[in-house]
Amino acid sequence: MTTPASNDSLASLPEYAPIPPSAQGPALNEQGYHVGRVERNLFWVTDGVYQSAFLTTPDGVVLFDAPPSIGGNLRRAVDEITAAEGVSSKVTHLVYSHHHADHNGASFLFEDVVRVGHEETSRLLKRDNDPARPLPDVTFADRYTLEVGGERVELAWQGPNHSADNIYIHFPDHDTLMLIDVVNAGWVPIYNTNLSDDVIGYMGAPAIALEYPWKHFICGHLGRLATRDDVLVHQQYIADIEASSRQALAEVDPAPFYGHYWPNVWAGVKAHLDTVTDRAAAPVIAKYTGVLAAADIEVFTKTTTFAILQSLRLDHGPSGPVHP
Ligand SMILES: [Zn+2]
Repeated sequence: MTTPASNDSLASLPEYAPIPPSAQGPALNEQGYHVGRVERNLFWVTDGVYQSAFLTTPDGVVLFDAPPSIGGNLRRAVDEITAAEGVSSKVTHLVYSHHHADHNGASFLFEDVVRVGHEETSRLLKRDNDPARPLPDVTFADRYTLEVGGERVELAWQGPNHSADNIYIHFPDHDTLMLIDVVNAGWVPIYNTNLSDDVIGYMGAPAIALEYPWKHFICGHLGRLATRDDVLVHQQYIADIEASSRQALAEVDPAPFYGHYWPNVWAGVKAHLDTVTDRAAAPVIAKYTGVLAAADIEVFTKTTTFAILQSLRLDHGPSGPVHP
């Protein structure tokens, strides 16, 4: 059971800058969704926070992700479009972008479908044992070409990024790429590089996405489709955090923090790393406020900066000076 927020606790919430118009998408309908044509028979659905996509074919509909927040509106969106297009409304295939429940926790709504996912998605779903996310029927290791009703979709796993199993979904005949939870069109990533498992993989994923030919990008979140420019702005934001983190790590001397708190070593760690993180994040927050929505919610850039500077220390090295 959830506890309702008291008026006092809502009144004490901070105010933020208005989000830029570029961060917003089309208006939602009465049921709370928008469905739009990406190109030809490829469509996207949003509730303003999450995104899904589907392909209509003469042999049935292929759905890409089933976020629970869109839930029953996926069926409504498919029915609305297939009726208008005069094609079958039966969902025959469901492709999992990755195993996370927030993107596929409504997949149980679609019965009698062929579920397609990466072999790691299958392993993780087996582990997590959630009846809302049935296991894939078809799995693949690196690449898989899904062909339905004369349409072709190229699925590829190119290493861990946001999650260990997150795949690139390319629609070569629709000029479109779908990659979930890496770039948020017009917005900063939320906490800790968008809650990603593999920081190096997360940082490298946009460059892999840009190697594909595409014009439209389905990023999985918020209210609009992304463009190549959105991916470039995101890359620059991450590159700025990386450069700023390197500089702050080099400039801040840890010794005084440890000396001050000795023998409480962890207090020294906190004081040192908080100082480095704040110094690294500050210019990035200033640069992107008004450019990317929610850049002024400082905790997002700070936690992403913290994740990146830890990765610089622990993955790239060196983690610190070597004792003589
Ligand atoms: Zn995810």
